[in-house]
Parts: sequence; structure tokens; C-alpha cells
Amino acid sequence: MTPDFVPIFEEEYRALRPRAPMPPIAVRFRRFTSLNTTIRLREGRILVSLSDLLEGAPESVVRAIAHILLAKLYKKPIDAAHNLRYKRFASSAAVTRQTELIRRARGNKRCFGPEGRYYHLEEVFDSLNMRFFGGLLGRPELTWSEHHAKRALGHYDAAHNTIVVSRVFDRPSSPRYAIEYLLYHEMLHLKHPVRMRGLRRCVHSTEFKAEDARFPHLAEALTFIRRL
Ligand SMILES: [Zn+2]
Repeated sequence: MTPDFVPIFEEEYRALRPRAPMPPIAVRFRRFTSLNTTIRLREGRILVSLSDLLEGAPESVVRAIAHILLAKLYKKPIDAAHNLRYKRFASSAAVTRQTELIRRARGNKRCFGPEGRYYHLEEVFDSLNMRFFGGLLGRPELTWSEHHAKRALGHYDAAHNTIVVSRVFDRPSSPRYAIEYLLYHEMLHLKHPVRMRGLRRCVHSTEFKAEDARFPHLAEALTFIRRL
């Protein structure tokens, strides 16, 4: 039961039925993709079920919904101003939710996940984390790239806390030290965030480079990467 909504329903009930006794009113929210609302009268209680899209709605809109639902329940005429207020809100809320659903669906399509055919990025990450970082790095989202990109081999996206690794490394001909080095480099980006040095962004600081050079199979890894 949401406390703020109930008094509004009670006031609108009183306005519609000035002399009738006040029934207990319960309001609950459900996650609907549209602005579904239902109202039922059961054993003298009014049960209202609202879309979670209405949770943050302005009071005038909540009042309009309360009026419309109660008027329908008791077969009374619906006030035109309330009706218009609700319709306006409904169209904008529907647009918002629709946009959100579309964005999410598209976002999912672009996300390929950590499980490759030959290598699992989470497994590689966890083993590197233990060997070189004392297990202290928080694991970001890890995903294989969509294409077998040879230019962008690895990339840490700080805004989305995601490391993307090119699918070219997910082959039997790709040695483990190659993908390990690539991921190790991106993990150093996690450890050493980009700093500003005057007006310049310092992506690979001196400390970063020193740690990067400490990777055990650096020479072999770089040779493999150069031949891709
Ligand atoms: Zn880098």
C-alpha cells in the first residue's frame, strides 16, 4: 500500500459519493509495460492496481486517475478535465517506456558476453587478477567484440565499466599469452584511471608502462599481435 495515493483516492471517492460510507482502499503497483490500471470492489474493499509508471506521477495526474477509476467503478460520468489530464500524461509516459524498451532491446543485441568458443574472458580475467593484482580488481563487464576487429583489439570503456576484446583472439591458433596480455593491458587501465596532465589526457602513465612491461610473455605477445 502506498500511503500517498490512498488519501487522494479517498478524497475522490468522497467527491463522487458524498454520503456513502468510506470503504477501505488499497493501492499497489505492478511493473506493466503500458499504463495498465485495474480497480475492483471485493468484500467491501476497493483494490487498485497501478502501473509503476505512475509512481512518480504528479498529484494532479494521480487525482485524475483516482477519479476516472472510481467513476467507472460506480458508473458515474467522467469529468472532462480529469480525462484530458490523464490522456496527456498517458501519451507521454507511453512514449517514455517505449523508448526505454527499445533502447534495452538494442543494447542487448550489442552485448555478446564473455563466453567465446575457445576462451572465457571471465576465467582469463580472474586468473590474471589473482596472479598480478592480488585478486583486488573488481571484475567489469567483459565481452567479445561483434566482429573480428584487427585494429581495435581491446578497449576499456570506463563509462560502461566494460572491457571489449576483439574476437580475433578467440581461435585455437591464438596463444593464451596473447589474450592474456591484451586483457592484462586493459586491466591496467582499470587500475590506473586516465589522468589529466595540464590539458593532456594521460592514458598510459609512467607507472602504467612499467607495469605493462612486467608481463612475462610480453615479447611473444607483441610479436603475435603484430602478425595479426
Ligand atoms: Zn592502453
